[in-house]
Amino acid sequence: MTDSPENLQTAPAPTNVNAPTASSTPSISPISNVDGVPDDVLLKLTGIKKSYDQTEVLADINLNIKHGEFLTLLGPSGCGKTTLLRLIAGFEQPTAGAIYLDGVQMAGLPADKRPVNTVFQQYALFPHMTVAQNVAYGLKLKKVPKDEIQTRVRDMLAMVQLEHLANRKPQDLSGGQQQRVAIARAVINRPKLLLLDEPLSALDYKLRLQMQSELKRLQRELGITFVFVTHDQEEALSMSDRIAVMKDGTFQQIGTPIEIYETPANLFTARFIGETNLFKAEVKGVYPDQTDRDGRLTNGRIEVEVCEAQAQEGPTTLRNLRCPDFANGVKVGDIVNLLLRPEDLRIYEPDDNNHAGLLGRVIESNYKGSTLDSIIELHNGHIIKASEFFDEDDPSFDYKLNEAVKVSWVDGWEWVLPNDGSIDSDVHDDVNTHDDINSNPNSGTVQKDMS
Ligand code: ADP
Ligand code: MG
Repeated sequence: MTDSPENLQTAPAPTNVNAPTASSTPSISPISNVDGVPDDVLLKLTGIKKSYDQTEVLADINLNIKHGEFLTLLGPSGCGKTTLLRLIAGFEQPTAGAIYLDGVQMAGLPADKRPVNTVFQQYALFPHMTVAQNVAYGLKLKKVPKDEIQTRVRDMLAMVQLEHLANRKPQDLSGGQQQRVAIARAVINRPKLLLLDEPLSALDYKLRLQMQSELKRLQRELGITFVFVTHDQEEALSMSDRIAVMKDGTFQQIGTPIEIYETPANLFTARFIGETNLFKAEVKGVYPDQTDRDGRLTNGRIEVEVCEAQAQEGPTTLRNLRCPDFANGVKVGDIVNLLLRPEDLRIYEPDDNNHAGLLGRVIESNYKGSTLDSIIELHNGHIIKASEFFDEDDPSFDYKLNEAVKVSWVDGWEWVLPNDGSIDSDVHDDVNTHDDINSNPNSGTVQKDMS
């Protein structure tokens, strides 16, 4: 195919847009054979494993994706996101497990027979074709009548706001415009499922934000289910209905952006999503759930003392906490982690006697328009980050460098996580000195972009 750019060999969108509907494909087994699959599930992954040679890249992936859902696979580079997309698209076969798409078992079904399309980071447009011809390509392959192709291409280009560029060649378009053509080409056939592998990561920041909201709008208007891959947690939070956080070929947590951010399942997710402050705390008392004689349940709680406060004079930080999910195994003397986001922290005068807290000093303070973001070094050297809403009525709302402060938080705003071992090696040490924050992009208190 002389029109084909080289990278099309690995970017099969143009041939794949020819996918017939699943109902026309032979040798399939209906999803009703699968126990307990709800009707609203479009894609079901059960027990998916993938190994290359002896190396396991995906381990026991299970996931149901609903019709019309925007699901994001989020995780650091090399965790298996692209591999999972390639299995769904049919470019690779799983070592174990099954993929069902709209009731159809996909095993053995080649990529071009699946009602799935893929948008890649590299746009892979045909350089010798115009924008309109690129978008029309899949319909032409399907031998759709000319008139219909014209109408559908026009409508599609309107949807991605490219009508005025219909006769341009790809090389005369900006990166964002090229990506819009690639997306238009991938959705013009209305696939049931669109896979997007880091489609925005080549764009600059401002364009990326714009394309994020355009993609969301397009997804809503078309009603197509999206599986979107990114390593950018902000992008994942702002776009997704649900996020599956991945690490080393496994799902760490699947949940809504709010669930993932507010109640991370483990330290990895806590650190990967958003900015974190982690405080070690010692368990001083465990009071499990109790049912009284009338059958009323009293939620259990644990009592902890923040370790850093133990070396401090004055009131220590002893907190009653809702019993965390893992409390069954918790005993007095254990160490747990309290997760607090920068916006959860409250900063007081150091001699404020109304609030127990941790003493420290402000080593950096940045006015961000709506918030004042401060970096505070606690007495033991632990560096934390606080973000306070800017108070227009308080003209003195700012900190001097080295100003002494007391850091506290509202009881109940902390999220308790077990000490799963990773904190000692890769969280606490990272945040112990300010230099580390500047030099280590994976530090516990700065934005992470683990590409
Ligand atoms: P991600 O998209 O999350 O960055 P990938 O799915 O591309 O990760 O890769 C996951 C792991 O699988 C990596 O360690 C990668 O080297 C390995 N891998 C991917 N494709 C192949 C292949 N064809 N052969 C061998 N190893 C592979
Ligand atoms: Mg990848």
